[in-house]
Amino acid sequence: MGSVTGKRIPGLGPLLLASLLGLAGCYTVPETGRSSFTLLPESQVVSMGLSSFEQIKAEEPLITSGPRYEMIQRVGNRVADAVGDDLPAADWEFIYIDRDEVNAFALPGGKVAVYDGLFEAVENEDQLAFVLGHEVAHVTARHANQRLSQAMVVAGVGSGLGYAIDDLDPAERQIILAAYGVGATVGVALPYSRMHESEADVIGQIYMARAGYDPREAPQVWENMAEVGGAQPPEFLSTHPSYDNRTERLEENVPRAERQAP
Ligand SMILES: [Zn+2]
Repeated sequence: MGSVTGKRIPGLGPLLLASLLGLAGCYTVPETGRSSFTLLPESQVVSMGLSSFEQIKAEEPLITSGPRYEMIQRVGNRVADAVGDDLPAADWEFIYIDRDEVNAFALPGGKVAVYDGLFEAVENEDQLAFVLGHEVAHVTARHANQRLSQAMVVAGVGSGLGYAIDDLDPAERQIILAAYGVGATVGVALPYSRMHESEADVIGQIYMARAGYDPREAPQVWENMAEVGGAQPPEFLSTHPSYDNRTERLEENVPRAERQAP
């Protein structure tokens, strides 16, 4: 079950109760203006993200030098700067994991990881900017909080969150970790919903354009993904929206993104 299982979530019980008693709210997603339901205090979701990220960094094989690492830092920081007021307080960080998976993921708090295998589908810096924009958009749109909130309501979990995740029954534990975006193996994120994936595509394309990259390269990433995609659906390669739909939507969104160019 990976190493996240032993993580204690301090204070989540009382905070959850407070949420249920009236702090639950709507969050207006930046760039799209969509109103979304969030049950948990965002600060709690962020602290969960940060502690998972520390664990991933301690356990995963990281690459910390070389041209691709440098490119991830350069592109990541430019895209993160383009977020502006959408999430001004984030402490963005971009890591590069030495694994073959064609994948990338982001955790609340502004922590983003790229797998080495992603470069099978990413041909240039603009395409990397789209992938990083997509991941950054999951963070600014608070998708983890929405998914966690929704899963908790559906499952009626919640009272158990005051305990260590280990104390939960396996089904509840799975729901929490899956909702949170961390799957059975630490570092392998599960797909978000179709709506969250499409939203991250559109917002990510806006961010990349604002950072000075060419938004016309975004649809190409999905075409490449369709070609190299393996048997497993990684987070970024969510099976739900079809590649064709995603490519088409990004092509339609090019003019809007281009208007954001610096
Ligand atoms: Zn995604």
